[in-house]
This record gives sequence, C-alpha cells and structure tokens, in this order.
Amino acid sequence: VTSPDDRALSRFLADVERRSSDLEILTGDDCVRRYSDPFRLRSLGDGTVAAVRPSGGTAIQDIVRSANEHGVPLWPISRGENLGYGGSASFGDAAVILDLSRMNRILAVNVEDAFCLVEPGVSFVDMHDHLQRHDLPLWLSVPGYGLGSMVGNALERGVGNSPYGDHASQICGLEVVLGDGELVRTGMGALSGSGMWQRQRAALGPRYDELFVQSGYGVVTKMGLWLMPQPEASAAIEIELSDRDGLGGLVETLTSLKRQAYIQDSPVIASFLTMAALRSVRSDWSDERRALNLEESRRLRDALGLGWWNARTRLYGPVDMVELCLGHVEKALRPFADSGVRVSRWRRGEPIENAHRGIPSGGGLANAQWCGEGGAHVDLAVALPLSGAEAMRHALRVMDLLESVGVDYHSAFYLRERHMLNIVQLLFDRNDTAMCEAVEAAYKMLIIDASMRGYGVTRAPAHFRADAMAVFDFADHALSRMGARIKAALDPGAILSPGKDGFPAEIRPIGSLPTAR
Ligand code: ADP
Repeated sequence: VTSPDDRALSRFLADVERRSSDLEILTGDDCVRRYSDPFRLRSLGDGTVAAVRPSGGTAIQDIVRSANEHGVPLWPISRGENLGYGGSASFGDAAVILDLSRMNRILAVNVEDAFCLVEPGVSFVDMHDHLQRHDLPLWLSVPGYGLGSMVGNALERGVGNSPYGDHASQICGLEVVLGDGELVRTGMGALSGSGMWQRQRAALGPRYDELFVQSGYGVVTKMGLWLMPQPEASAAIEIELSDRDGLGGLVETLTSLKRQAYIQDSPVIASFLTMAALRSVRSDWSDERRALNLEESRRLRDALGLGWWNARTRLYGPVDMVELCLGHVEKALRPFADSGVRVSRWRRGEPIENAHRGIPSGGGLANAQWCGEGGAHVDLAVALPLSGAEAMRHALRVMDLLESVGVDYHSAFYLRERHMLNIVQLLFDRNDTAMCEAVEAAYKMLIIDASMRGYGVTRAPAHFRADAMAVFDFADHALSRMGARIKAALDPGAILSPGKDGFPAEIRPIGSLPTAR
C-alpha cells in the first residue's frame, strides 16, 4: 500500500490552497485521528496524511484536476460515518481524504412530488429536523445510525426498512465530478434548467445514477432522493419468535403477505443479539472467549425479554386500506400467536410520536461496545432468495462458521421485493489481535461459503472488496473487467478511491500512480 509521495503531496496541497478561497486543509496527528477507521481489523497504512474540506462551488473540480496533475489519489467521503464498512478512512490510508461534510445545504424539498435535492454533508438528522421545523408531511427511511449522510449512505447501498428502505433505489438525479474533473448531471438534469431532474431517472439512454453507487468513478456533489409522502395511517406488527428453527416459517408467511401487497415495507427479522447488543455488553452474560452458548443465550433472552428472532413490519396507506391489510396480516400470523404478536396503529391527527416513521438517531452505534472498550464490528450483506428454507440454511451456515472462530451471531434479514438481504455484523474487540485475525478469516470464509451456494455480497468494506468481487467469476471475471474499463474511461488517472472497487490486481487498468494494492 503506497501513500502519496511527499513532494507530490506538498505541491498538490499548495496548489489547491492557491486555487480555492475557502478550503480547509488538515495534516498531522489531528488528521490521522479524525480520518481513521475506529473499527479497523488491522492497519494497512500509517494513517491519513492529509484531508481537504471544500465548502462547495467549483472547488471540487479544481481539487480533482490538481490531484490528476500531481498524481495524488483522493478518497471522497460525505460525512465519513460509514462505520462497519471502513469509516472515514481510505483503503490502506493511501489517499488524501476529500471531505465533503462542509457542503451541507438542503437545496430543495418538494412536498407534492416527495423528493429532495441535497449536498453530501446533509445527515439524516439534518433532514429530519428540516422536515419537522417546516412541518412538511414527508417521512424518511433511516439507517441504524442516523448521523451519517443521506448521500454516502445511498451511495453505499445503505438500508432502512420503510417502503423506501433500499436507499440506492431512491436516488433520482446526481451531479458528479468525474475522475478527470468534468462536471456531469445525470438523467433529466442533463437538460439545462429542467424541472424534471428529481422526477424521472433516465434521460435518453441508460440510467447513469447507478454507475456512481459503490464505485470509484466520480465525486457526487448533489443527489436527488425520493422521500415517502406521509400516509393517512400506519400500523406496526412486532413478533418475538422464541424458536430459532421457526425462522423459515416466518419468512414464508411474511413473504407471502408482501407478495400480495398486504405489507408495504421491508419486514425485518433480527437475531436476539441485534437488540441485546444495544442494551447490554457481552460481559453481562459471559466471560468466555467463544461464541455465547445455548444456556447463556437463553438467560440473556429471558432477562431482556427477547425472542430468538425479533421481527417487525409496517403497513401504510389510507385508513381503510391499513385496516383491511392488517386483518389479513393478523390472520396469517395466527400460527405465531404464542410468539407475542403486538400491533400498534396510528392515523393522521394523532400524536406524530406514535406514527411509524423513521426517526434518525446516533443510538445504533451502541452495539459496537458489545465486546467492551475496544469494541468494533465489520459488516457483510448477502442477497438471498425469498425462501424460508434458504433463510434457515444460510443462518445455520453463518452461525456454524462464526461459532468455529468464537464470534457471536448478530444478524438481520430484510425481506425485499424479489430477494432477502442478510446483514451480518461481526462484533469483535480490536485490542485482541487473535480475535481480529479470526474475524478477518471468518469474513472471507463467509464470502466463499455464500458464493458456493450462488449468493454474492452486496456491501463490504474496501478491506474485503477484492475478496467479495473475486467470486463474480462468470466469463473469466468479465464484470470486473468491464468495471475496470469504465474506471479507465471516467477516471483515467486512477485518482479516485484507490482500492475501493476491489477489481483483481491483474485487470486493474492503472497507470504509474500510487495504487492501493
Ligand atoms: P456517511 O456520510 O453516510 O457516513 P461516508 O461519507 O462514510 O458515508 O461514505 C461512505 C463511502 O461512500 C465513502 O467511503 C466513499 O467511498 C463513498 N462516498 C461517500 N460520499 C461520496 C461522494 N459524495 N462521492 C463519491 N463517493 C462517496
């Protein structure tokens, strides 16, 4: 892993400082601390050497052009809260951080057509506050950790479980500075002055928004996102399933309800540790250096009042429709009556606190402390079919693999339109070298094991991107080669996000510039 050459770096920093009137530049220890991954498994570099923080305008184009001239790689981040997937650090600390968090304007919110246009520094909390302050009837889909940016989260395929919970799918129109410094607007934004930018995703030709999701092809400077219009009514159903092996049946039932459109959101089914790790620490239940055993797990569930699986789904729409759907859902869930099925309702006019809308908070971070002071996690998302049998098989495989390396099972299934997303968080103590090594090995095993059943990873930290990409092997890794060709066209100097794409080294079309692997 090579960091930018000292002389090139000084020339680059002097150059961008001269070109831009309002640019913050950070170097030294402060920079190393601020842009490190607090959850790193091991250090691949010596820490971030420098960061640049523009306030907007044409600064980004100037920075990207200057980076090309001086051969200095850049790693764009929005708010840098990508915890569990690399945080604010660049892969191997090999790039200067291009921190866009000062660009935090909400440029537009349209209530009638339910969309917004935001800069990268806008967090979910900022947007929530804005909607509250102006009393706008729009709801957010929020990820577990709400202090991150809407832009960074959508670009990394973050998830929530509202009907708008597939955040990358809600993107409508981007403004992007490509790797060579050219400024582009996607979709109808390409028609200067068009009011259609956030209303229709494609112009003539492909939908290019998706090209900038999880890629290193450009720096996103503005993003359009669709929001959820406030419904007339909502309802939530919570189920605590005490039987671990009942997962398959619950998946089948919820899937069937979703396919028939009785359920509008993405039902989520989470293992008990997902909640327990927010409310307790591991040492409350065990001091052993192995995965929690059956007895400890049972004691924990009894004490915290949790099911083995804890499911939640929500209904939205006009009052009559929600009641009709709820009737069907309650009937279908009768076989789970022993599992404590709880229903709550809200309708417009009642206190908004009781509505089933997403409220962003920083609380989701608490689970990192599960393994104590040095607590951390790395996360892995795998796409599976909507099948109860496959959910159970996958859960047992992951449990077995994690148990074999002494890591607890912390997992949630999100039931989507045509697939089910399983997000596993591997919680570890980063001060425990042996545990870090075990987690690293386990993560790679999980990738391979899923791929042998035909399942690929949809989100992984840059640390594991090459491993996760390598399983996409059709026609001798043609997909990676195509990605590398697009990269070469849009970022010919290989300046942006080195190591992020995870293309195998031999097909990486990179010139003489420092590369991450
Ligand atoms: P968040 O602010 O939601 O915490 P980050 O800023 O950490 O998210 O972004 C996560 C990752 O997404 C970054 O490491 C980077 O690879 C990519 N990314 C984030 N923002 C941008 C952007 N504006 N342009 C290009 N890539 C971005």
